[in-house]
Amino acid sequence: MNIKVETQNLKKHFPTPAGTLHAVDGVNLKIFEKQTLGVVGESGCGKSTLGRVIIKLLDSTAGKIYFDNQDVTNISKDELKKLRWKMQMIFQDPYSSVNPRMTVSQIIAEPLKIAKKFNKSEIDTRVDDLMKIVGLDSRYRMTYPHELDGGRRQRISIARALALNPSFVVCDEPVSALDVSIQAQILNLLKDLQDQFGTTFLFISHNLAVVKYISHYIMVMYLGVSVEQCSTEELYKNPLHPYTKALLSAVPIADIHHQQNRIAIKGELTSPINPPAGCRFAPRCEYAVERCFHETPVIKETGKEHFVACHLY
Ligand code: SF4
Repeated sequence: MNIKVETQNLKKHFPTPAGTLHAVDGVNLKIFEKQTLGVVGESGCGKSTLGRVIIKLLDSTAGKIYFDNQDVTNISKDELKKLRWKMQMIFQDPYSSVNPRMTVSQIIAEPLKIAKKFNKSEIDTRVDDLMKIVGLDSRYRMTYPHELDGGRRQRISIARALALNPSFVVCDEPVSALDVSIQAQILNLLKDLQDQFGTTFLFISHNLAVVKYISHYIMVMYLGVSVEQCSTEELYKNPLHPYTKALLSAVPIADIHHQQNRIAIKGELTSPINPPAGCRFAPRCEYAVERCFHETPVIKETGKEHFVACHLY
């Protein structure tokens, strides 16, 4: 399988009055073509920042980003413009990510107009096609986003993201603002689009059940670092990192005969501002030993394509 996106030791730090916030702190990942990598972790773990750095909405502090085997870490503005055709993003809140004063067709047509490569009739045809692809009836063409429900608004965002035929899309919590029944429709739509167009996805969510449904591989993030990475099947069968185990124990199981042994995560959260050496999960980890508080665990392969950052392995 070809690698679509790769990062090496990718970092994004933000200066704050209290010190340097290590939002993303040395992430290595690979996303294979036509596959989905799910990134899961609590809110504030750096997963959204990671997505924005990868598609270059934010500059990285250090490390490398490769797209189609090309180093795109420090590309020029002109090169970045071309890259924008290939990389897009779908945001969590479809209402705030679309212009409320524009109609559905204007919103979807916007990237096509900005690209300055299409005439009016080509844009009209493409908007019609995109509305069909994402399951939006053509009668909504002249409708404003506030007149539609959350699911249809998210379909507009997806249509707009697909307008220029991107080969890679970062989906940042695209279903968390939606009702559960609509969540399933949008997830199925994304899966269908991947089958139809071979799009590669980075799918960010705090919800492991959602990530499991859509992802081929999963990366678990904790305070800016990747603590576990493997195939979805392997993660559910054989979770290794204590944080992953705790997250999985909290996923509800629809079986009244199944007794759920939930692992509660207790203890102080390490500050992402100038974090001390050692494992960032140590203050909350029931297996922590002295070494965990001063020696940072390096992520390493423990089995076939199963990576974990923990001194237990
Ligand atoms: Fe727990 Fe130590 Fe492993 Fe960190 S390195 S997860 S503190 S056992």
